[in-house]
Amino acid sequence: MNDEYENVIIGLEAHIQLTNLKTKLFCGCDADYRGKEPNMFTCPICVGHPGSLPVINKKAIEFAIRLALALDCKINNFTYFFRKNYFYPDLPKNFQISQYNKAGGKAFADGGKVTIKVNGEKKEIVLNRIHLEEDPARLVHLGSIASSPYTLVDYNRSGVALIEVVSEPVMTSPEEAREYLKQLKSIVQYTGISDLDLEGSCRVDANISIKGHARSEVKNISSFREVEKALNWEIQRQKNLLKRGKEIQQETRHWDDKNRVTIGLRTKEFEKDYRYFPEQDLVPIEIDKDFIAQIKEELPEMPIDRSKRFQKEYELSEFDADNLVLDKNISDFYEKGIKIDSSFGLEEYKLYCNWLMNDISGWLNENNKTIKDTKLSPNQIVELINLIKEGKITTKIAKTFIDDMTKGNPISKILKESGKTRIADKNKIIEIVKEVIDENLDIINDYDKNPKALEALIGKCMQKTKGQLDPNITREILLELIKK
Ligand SMILES: [Zn+2]
Repeated sequence: MNDEYENVIIGLEAHIQLTNLKTKLFCGCDADYRGKEPNMFTCPICVGHPGSLPVINKKAIEFAIRLALALDCKINNFTYFFRKNYFYPDLPKNFQISQYNKAGGKAFADGGKVTIKVNGEKKEIVLNRIHLEEDPARLVHLGSIASSPYTLVDYNRSGVALIEVVSEPVMTSPEEAREYLKQLKSIVQYTGISDLDLEGSCRVDANISIKGHARSEVKNISSFREVEKALNWEIQRQKNLLKRGKEIQQETRHWDDKNRVTIGLRTKEFEKDYRYFPEQDLVPIEIDKDFIAQIKEELPEMPIDRSKRFQKEYELSEFDADNLVLDKNISDFYEKGIKIDSSFGLEEYKLYCNWLMNDISGWLNENNKTIKDTKLSPNQIVELINLIKEGKITTKIAKTFIDDMTKGNPISKILKESGKTRIADKNKIIEIVKEVIDENLDIINDYDKNPKALEALIGKCMQKTKGQLDPNITREILLELIKK
């Protein structure tokens, strides 16, 4: 156990925007505000004019049911909305329409779980509840919130549908929190309710405490990636305070991702300050059992089941399968790909997985892209594997094709233009090996003492031919010629 995280308690509230909804939660305004002129998609409802009446978006209810089912929550068949009152420029009505699980109210769904794996150990992160609410408007600052000379407000986001997923405070390290969010993101992607790769589509509030002390809430961490950093910083801050004999105050803090610190915003408001009360302008929602059953029927296979199936059908290791299914688009790509060539068997299934998880994923990470952003096609990797199998190119050459493959170029074209075919002609290889030997007599003289000499010489041969030589034949010839 890492001492650094001893007695740490973390609970997360993830606000997931339903980016796959066309309209906002309570009005018909366009919900796709990204990259648009500010304050274009507004109406009396989402800017809170007196007398305007909200109407629930049925599709949002369907999306919430999908997520509740995928997370194994218990859906409440009868639910209604509450007003959460607070005064802030991002909230023109001075209240946010949300849900509340007290005072006669019920969450949209209770309980649920997300299974994570840290250091090979499985752990279930138990959820408290999920609920639907509207997004406030977007506040835009110049640089950091603390030093910006002004705040701009964009009401295009006001009223966009969110689902809040509230975990129990059961995570014990920033690493667990990262894994939890990774799995949650994957599940959300499979349900088809949101694209969490979009900027600002998921914001997290984190409750952090050291056992026996007050907690702080770090608000509005703007991406999953930032959460681990914010948690690490906040844990350190609290531990340092305790070390100096000071006590931790219950407060709300803000994660400043530009300066990489949390800043105290206000001492914690208490729940009663929000004066929750039922939203009288909306009728209670009764969710029909048949409606739930129908949605359950249409729900795709979830990542945890898909991983098990991949292990069974394609005999992938648990590690490979778990990684492969994390991104639905990549695992769809995989299944499509391995079925193209009917001669493919277990060996090719594993090779195909390796190409996707190592070289392709590496390229995507480096270029900050998802597979959907590229023109990669499942067939390209089939061709690549076949070319290597037939001995027409080496794996090393194949790796240099990835950049061109992502542009959608057919393998045959890449191969032709690169002029890089595998050289297996013995006479040609002998010629090159002889040249390398002549140029590297110092390595040859060292050969008996230095076990790495052979590899160094193979490397020199490859350098000369940009990796085109067949490595096995080259090795054989080198060994033969050196002995002479
Ligand atoms: Zn509107």
